Amino acid sequence: MNRYISWERRTLPVHRLLVRTLAAGTLFVLVLAGCARTTEPVVVDDLLLGTYVRIAVHGGTTERPLLDAAMDRVAEVERKMSVSTADYEETELLRVNRAAGQEPIPVSEETLEVVKAALAYSEATGGAFNVAVEPLVSLWGIGTDDERVPSELEIEATLPLVDYSAVVVDGDAGSLYLPEEGMGLDVGGIAKGYAADEAAAILRDGGVTSALLDFGGNILVIGEKPDGSAWRVGIQRPDAERAAYLGILSIRDATVVTSGPYERFFVQDEVRYHHILDSQTGFPAAAGLEQVTIVAERSIDADALSTACFVLGLGRATELIEARPGVEAIFVDTEGRVFLTSGIGTDFELTDANYTLSD
Ligand code: ADP
Ligand code: MG
Repeated sequence: MNRYISWERRTLPVHRLLVRTLAAGTLFVLVLAGCARTTEPVVVDDLLLGTYVRIAVHGGTTERPLLDAAMDRVAEVERKMSVSTADYEETELLRVNRAAGQEPIPVSEETLEVVKAALAYSEATGGAFNVAVEPLVSLWGIGTDDERVPSELEIEATLPLVDYSAVVVDGDAGSLYLPEEGMGLDVGGIAKGYAADEAAAILRDGGVTSALLDFGGNILVIGEKPDGSAWRVGIQRPDAERAAYLGILSIRDATVVTSGPYERFFVQDEVRYHHILDSQTGFPAAAGLEQVTIVAERSIDADALSTACFVLGLGRATELIEARPGVEAIFVDTEGRVFLTSGIGTDFELTDANYTLSD
């Protein structure tokens, strides 16, 4: 397994990090540079949580140790919650997964918090987001050396293990327990969002007033641009070969998270198999969407919701988002139609004539 790819920090030149990350197809939200840039931001970057992580501070405190502390926080989240056996011999969640069917495992408060949030989203989305998806993720191995299309029999044998409702959280003991051998937790659909929120909290507490955090498809902005205008985030066209955007979102103090089948996939017999799995069918989700973008205040919410909406498809995804104040979405279907939830208003501007706005 090699889902969370990580290298020793700051030992690889950035261009190599970029090449590897782009090869993995994970950079899909473009941040548009402003024209009136007065000062260069202070930047740290690294490969963490399976993506290229870049923190750029534009205003307020710009001390390097503060940026490093924010990046260290992201690394800490990875060290605790990764389930990549290629990168880690042991993490808290690897321990929990290995003890499935045997015993509860005590974990840190924050791992418990992320798993609890992931469980709440699993329930709220009827399992479209499913934190217990790990056995399926392992079976398909998408993005690893072992990726392959499993047999129907293998899928049938795995589906009963993907049962988030069986996960036992003991808040008093601070432990997690998976009652069946073979069960496993995977927070790959939510941990990047959590880590972005945590890094942003460190920066804000340290006095940062303007910053851009780019975790591959997860963007989080603090404040506005130094010139007082909104950050402009380009939403990439889902046909990943082109580094072009289909529209622009203007945001302040918000997060934008995109999920799509073009991020991580393999092709066999001309069929594309991608990394967002539908735990009802055991196959990559195919609900008619090609891209989901969520705008929200907290990145943990946007991350879980983008994955969930992708599995749910347009109708149910729209209901899910409309029921949540402060959360908006942009959906692109497989026909190139773009759908906006009701609160987006003028914050989104469609710029590519190959796409059409629908309602
Ligand atoms: P990315 O991490 O590429 O930005 P997502 O946030 O959509 O994309 O998360 C996809 C990851 O979440 C997968 O790589 C896998 O680890 C996990 N995952 C796959 N299917 C599901 C699902 N139905 N529910 C929750 N997590 C999932
Ligand atoms: Mg997600």
